[in-house]
Amino acid sequence: GGAAEPPPRLVLDLERLTQVPSEKAGPLQRYAATIQSQRGDYNGKILSIRQDDLRTLAVIYDQSPSILTEQLISWGVLNPDARRAVREEDA
Ligand code: C2E
Ligand code: C2E
Ligand code: C2E
Repeated sequence: GGAAEPPPRLVLDLERLTQVPSEKAGPLQRYAATIQSQRGDYNGKILSIRQDDLRTLAVIYDQSPSILTEQLISWGVLNPDARRAVREEDA
């Protein structure tokens, strides 16, 4: 709480996501596909997700949110500005 700026948008690059080997990206690919299905949002090249979804994905990947964030950024599927979303949580 008490943040001076709003949290960053979390934006997945769905085209890059298809290029990451599925043994790494499989859980995220399924999660993103579920959100697309729930929204009826099938045509986008990118997908905006909730802050809470990053926490859920960290549980799925058995990583801290900040380490998962770095992995997703290194794969090119998450915007680097997303680092700000986890900075305060890792203290
Ligand atoms: P819900 O959470 O009950 O949201 C119902 C509707 O409220 C959504 O319908 C959407 O029109 C709107 N809504 C809720 N939160 C937001 C938000 O942060 N931004 C925007 N722009 N609209 C919001 P929609 O999109 O058809 O989604 C249906 C259901 O699918 C949602 O019900 C939720 O259960 C799930 N869902 C959709 N997108 C996400 C997501 O990114 N993450 C998660 N965890 N669930 C999602
Ligand atoms: P933005 O957030 O910078 O998004 C730019 C474009 O990225 C969007 O253009 C859309 O083509 C794509 N995009 C972003 N997130 C998603 C996603 O979850 N699914 C899909 N299919 N495409 C996505 P668009 O739709 O013309 O929107 C232009 C701008 O309008 C957005 O810029 C944003 O500032 C605003 N906007 C659109 N939808 C929402 C919304 O649900 N909530 C809020 N707060 N702003 C929205
Ligand atoms: P956004 O639409 O610009 O919403 C920004 C923030 O406003 C959301 O961050 C959330 O904290 C709040 N918000 C917006 N609409 C609602 C709502 O109906 N109910 C509640 N409880 N809060 C709302 P958040 O959750 O991190 O979501 C980030 C972005 O992810 C949203 O930006 C939107 O682009 C997308 N998104 C998240 N959930 C949904 C959803 O259910 N449906 C759709 N279509 N887009 C969603």
